[in-house]
This record gives sequence, structure tokens and C-alpha cells, in this order.
Amino acid sequence: MKAIVSSVLLFACAATASAAGITAVKAAHMVDVRNGTLIDNAVVLIDGERITAAGGNLAIPAGATIIDLGNKTLLPGLIDSHTHITGRPEDAGYGIIAKSIPRITLTGAHNALTTLRAGFTTIRDVGADGYTDIGLRDAINDGEVPGPRILASGPPLGITGGHCDDTMHAPEYKTSALGVADGVDEALKVTRRNIKYGADVIKICATGGVLSFGDDPRTSQYTLEELKAIIGDAHRLGRKAAAHAHGGDGIRLSVLAGIDSIEHGSYIDDEGIKLMKEHKTYLVPTLYLGDWLIDNAEAIKLPKPLLDKAKVVLPQARINIGKAIKAGVPIAFGTDAAVYPHGLNAREFAVLVKLGMTPAQAIRTATVNAADLLGWSDKVGSIEAGKYADLIAVDGEPLKDVRALEQVQWVMKGGAVVK
Ligand SMILES: [Zn+2]
Repeated sequence: MKAIVSSVLLFACAATASAAGITAVKAAHMVDVRNGTLIDNAVVLIDGERITAAGGNLAIPAGATIIDLGNKTLLPGLIDSHTHITGRPEDAGYGIIAKSIPRITLTGAHNALTTLRAGFTTIRDVGADGYTDIGLRDAINDGEVPGPRILASGPPLGITGGHCDDTMHAPEYKTSALGVADGVDEALKVTRRNIKYGADVIKICATGGVLSFGDDPRTSQYTLEELKAIIGDAHRLGRKAAAHAHGGDGIRLSVLAGIDSIEHGSYIDDEGIKLMKEHKTYLVPTLYLGDWLIDNAEAIKLPKPLLDKAKVVLPQARINIGKAIKAGVPIAFGTDAAVYPHGLNAREFAVLVKLGMTPAQAIRTATVNAADLLGWSDKVGSIEAGKYADLIAVDGEPLKDVRALEQVQWVMKGGAVVK
């Protein structure tokens, strides 16, 4: 009897203590991202960093701190699967040459706050000079600077003279980017070195690119043998791998080698579409950047050879990716932010809708789909008990007009209001 009484008392004390520490976020509506429906009279209960309950008309425990967002609509914090958080548009081409690693890192800290305030509470960074994205990730995790949760790649792997090498220098400078690796042995070495220095994900440049000199986005750069070695090693060591790939050959080779996502995918063809569906490989289209880059090429002094490539590749990408979307290739949201200013990431949604997605499908790419690609489905991507309390609120009706996400009014990361 005594034992029963004391356990009842203990339970009562625990309940009172936790209600006082609970935060309740209220809003007129909440988007159920899985079903693409709206829940009215939304309540999200939060204890510390995590959500404990969420739904319509939930009872709010006595003593909870209430944040009432009135007529706004709640969504889970957005996820961008393709950023270069330490870069800026002005750094494209020759802009980067005189910029030191410490200076690049500070640009990253500035961009991290801008990205977070735009409603992107998680990003996957796929390519940064030095290990600046990894340093920034750690500083954010240590609470030293504000920013989104980051999965970081460090320097991307690429062939000599390829998209991810330093292609703007004359031979006498003898420069080579940190991630350059030719042949299976070097590729394994650099994969392992990136993991040694903290890479969460392995980024590979599988084809030529737009913002690099002397290469063709349509040609493949790594061989199947090299790709299999890198991706196999990444997987064995518990990391996913992402391939920058514009051309059809590079897309096919990467998918056959077991890649987790194709970035850009500009020249995806029928065979690539078929393979990606079979292998359930995510495509991360990065399409809005084309509008911004071509409009602002002069302002950022984009070198002419790079602008000429952009004008050919980017319109073609919309046609081919439109086909991939209609065919049902799995899509995860990504922007390539750095090619255009950080904070404008949500402009990608309207392009996805233009290419045939419903707003609900477009929102899913930046929530449940991106969380799945990142391997973080247990942490982020939906407003559900057990997940981080990463929430945003917008005016308007995002399920009718996805551009509502371009004006995020309120942001919470891990239970702390950041905007
Ligand atoms: Zn990129």
C-alpha cells in the first residue's frame, strides 16, 4: 500500500513539473504535410527541443507557456537538400580567388542566419571550400552562432580539370581543389579524409558543370569504377552520397553505382527516368537559380563563358525535369543557394508547381521527402510527437498558393523562437 501511494505521488509531481516546462504553440491552421490537408485550431505541445503532441483542438496543460500565432498557418521547418552555405553569387567565377578560408567561413555564418530566418531549419550542404561548412555546422551545434541544422559534405570529390576542380587558374599557379581525386585509390583516400574531418555526406561531381571553366555539363567525369568505389565506401562508412550530374551518362552511371541523389539532373533522359524510379533515387532539381542568374549576371560580373553555358543548360533543364516529375521520379527539394542569394530558397516551390506539382506535393519535397533523403525522418520533416520542434508560420494559404512560403513570418528551431 505504501509503495502504491508513493508512486502515485511521484507521478503527480512529475506531471506538474513537466506542464510548467511545456510550450503550446497555437495557430488557426496547420498543414499535415503527409496528407496535404489542413488541420484547424492547431496546437503543438513542446517539451524542451521536441514535440510531445500535435493536432487540432488539443487540450493545453495548465501552466504551459502559450504562443498564440492567431490566424497564421503552421508548417514543419523547411529542408533544403542542396545549398552552398558558405558561398555567395559574387563568388562565382573569379570572385572566390582572393577570399580566404576565414573570410568564407564568416560569409557562411551570415548566410546561416538568413537561411534560418527564411524558414529553412535544416539544410544539406553539398560542397564548400576547405571544411568551412563542417566548421559552421559545429559552431551552430555548439550554440556559438545561429543557423539551421546542417548536414555537411566538405570539399566535393571531382576529377582533375572537372567541375569541382579550380578551373580558373593558369597552369603556372599549379592549383588543385581540395576534393580532387583521380582513380579508385585517390578517390577512396579523399572519401575517407572527408569523413575523417567530419563529412556527414559524400558529394561527388559526376559530370561537368555550369559555373566552371572548360568543361561540358553533358559529359560524365567519373567512370563507373570510380563512382562504385566512392559510393560503396561512403555507404560502408555510414554516409549517403550525392552526385552533381547534368548529363544523361553521368546520371545513369551514378544511379547504377548506387548514388542516393542526383543533383540538378538537367539532361535526364527516358533511361535515366526509368533507372531512378527503379532504384528509388531522389532527384534534387535546382531550377529557380536559372531565372536569378541570367537576370543578375552583369551585376555579379559572371564571366561570359559561364553565362553562355547557363543560357543553354538551364532552360533545357526545366523541360527534362518537367518530364521526370510527371513520370514520378522521387523529388527532394534543393536550390543551389549561393548561386543566388541565401534566403530566397523558397522561390524554388513555384517552379516545381509550374512543372506540374500540386502545392502539397511541392511542400512534401521540402519536408518528408528531404528528411528521407537526409536519413533524418526520425528528427525533422513533419509536425509529429518525438520530432524536433522545428516550426514555421505563414500568412495566406500555402496549399492553394505555394508562394506563401516565400514570406515566412515566424520560425522556431528546437523549441526556441528565432524569428
Ligand atoms: Zn551545387
